[in-house]
Amino acid sequence: MVPFIGVPFIGISDIQRLLQRVGIGAFIERLAGEIEADYRRWEQFEKSARVASHSTVGVIELMPTSDGQQYAFKYVNGHPQNTAAGLLTVTAFGVLADVQTGYPLLLSELTITTALRTAAMSALAARWLARPGGSTMAIIGNGAQSEFQAIAFHRLLGVRALRLYDTDPAATAKLLRNLRAMPELRDLQLHVATSTADAVMCAHIVTTVTADKRNAVILTPSMVKPGMHLNAVGGDCPGKTELHVDILTRPGTRVVVEFAPQSRIEGEIQQLPANFGVTEFADVVSGQSIGRADADEVTVFDSVGFALEDFSALRLLHQLLQEHGDLRRTIDLVPELTNPKDLFGGVLGTTQRLQRVA
Ligand code: NAD
Repeated sequence: MVPFIGVPFIGISDIQRLLQRVGIGAFIERLAGEIEADYRRWEQFEKSARVASHSTVGVIELMPTSDGQQYAFKYVNGHPQNTAAGLLTVTAFGVLADVQTGYPLLLSELTITTALRTAAMSALAARWLARPGGSTMAIIGNGAQSEFQAIAFHRLLGVRALRLYDTDPAATAKLLRNLRAMPELRDLQLHVATSTADAVMCAHIVTTVTADKRNAVILTPSMVKPGMHLNAVGGDCPGKTELHVDILTRPGTRVVVEFAPQSRIEGEIQQLPANFGVTEFADVVSGQSIGRADADEVTVFDSVGFALEDFSALRLLHQLLQEHGDLRRTIDLVPELTNPKDLFGGVLGTTQRLQRVA
């Protein structure tokens, strides 16, 4: 066999074991800390809007970034019609690599990790933007991402009541079942709403995490009350939004984005002129901008998902494999050659020799 450099690999069974070991809530909390630390060193990162390949049914995207020491990219898709065919709307995988050599340090599934990192980012943003003390959240869209959002806001924000709504009642029933099965969420009150308007009534925080490839209007201005924090997760592609545009432009509303050049293409703010004033989250964590002016201000986290968050997630996974060595496995992704210039002889020459022997 050709000698190879074992590249750490995290598949679905590996992430399951890791999460069983560290706990989902604890993982999300630690990841939120890593993401915040990385946003604090925003200027060290190479930043670009993601590279998107659109089709009539969805999008496939590549999300790269580097801090000069390490490089990461994520492959991710978004296909809202997939669930009707028994497939996920969002799947992903990614790589962490060493900038010095270009060699991969980790190849990982990122489907589950994307849900974890999106929830971690949502809760982190809400910690900076939402009115303190609000304990009721509405979740509109009860699909694959929704449990992760619930766990993150319970753990990081002290949310103790959830009001749930989905146009598909089976999705809400699934969310209820999953949340009720978690011992650590025993103190969470769950209410199934009859409509979005019913769900957002008396909510301090509203998370919209629906999937529809169009300019949907999930929230209208009359549903938004002073002091609310809106965590708008589902609008993350050109032509795919969730908030009525007047919510964004109404005086007394602050819109916070991850990386403005990408959000202007993909976020809720794609509905607005290119000079519409927004705050980047990095400026909030560095203290250059405030997150919330007063108790009545409406804050909007216009989430689309930025490469830095996946970089943080991949680094955390890499770190966790070092902490839990017994869960570490590798794959033969890169050959190890005595003569690195003899790729052919070192790999294929051996195979041909083996075939001849067989
Ligand atoms: P999903 O298909 O599993 O769930 C979406 C749910 O939304 C479905 O249950 C659907 O019935 C419901 N829905 C659709 N229209 C609705 C409406 N008008 N009112 C109420 N419910 C409605 O998808 P998912 O994996 O949970 O992802 C949800 C969304 O989040 C997608 O649009 C995805 O692209 C986006 N997303 C964003 C980020 C980010 O970083 N911002 C990360 C991951 C996913």
